[in-house]
Amino acid sequence: MKFSDQKKMMVQNQIEGRGISSEAVIQAFLKVDRHLFVPEAIRYLAYQDSPLGIGEGQTISQPYIVALMLDLLDPHPWERVLEIGTGSGYQTALLAELFERVYTVERIDVLLTRARSRLQDLGYNNIFFKTGDGTRGWEGGEPACQLFDKIIVSAAAPDIPASLISQLADPGLLVIPAGSRFMQDLIVLKKEKNKLTTTNQGGCAFVPLIGSEGWQSD
Ligand code: SAM
Repeated sequence: MKFSDQKKMMVQNQIEGRGISSEAVIQAFLKVDRHLFVPEAIRYLAYQDSPLGIGEGQTISQPYIVALMLDLLDPHPWERVLEIGTGSGYQTALLAELFERVYTVERIDVLLTRARSRLQDLGYNNIFFKTGDGTRGWEGGEPACQLFDKIIVSAAAPDIPASLISQLADPGLLVIPAGSRFMQDLIVLKKEKNKLTTTNQGGCAFVPLIGSEGWQSD
């Protein structure tokens, strides 16, 4: 089956079929080709219902969990969004379809470099990239550190990093898997009128968020 047909089936069965109804999120998934973000040798698996290896011991997440996180993020184009864990750049591309400006941080430079050139080749010019410890948010460099309306973390933290909470605008929303090393809960933290509230959206399993406000090592 052609990749374009596999992509439509992925959206119908794995995303809409599991209750994601945000039209903007669905359109973004229909637009971005997942097979361009996985290693060539496993492209034939690109639209299956699972995470896949992308090298350096990291993964591109299961499509459904990405869709769920983006849906929970309640995206509006004019908002400023920060992504922690660029990985393959697939979710970054989806964010770039949903927001006018995307800031993304990846700890592993080779992944960041690969994702940046892939995304630039695809014509995305609304993404700011940085290699570094994303547990500390968007630190130093250009453009200068600002507050973000939305923050999405695609690796699992033991706790919600304080730096991310402080870089979240008011009102603002942060989506993050948090919990133990191998099993976590998907947490939505809302900042409103200087008050923080969290909701638990259920279990998930992500690779660890490694850094000064995350896990200390792989
Ligand atoms: N969303 C990505 C995609 O679409 O391919 C998948 C992300 S993968 C599940 C998690 C990523 O978080 C890995 O690439 C990992 O290197 C990165 N990561 C882990 N700790 C990090 C940190 N402190 N700062 C930035 N990135 C980090």
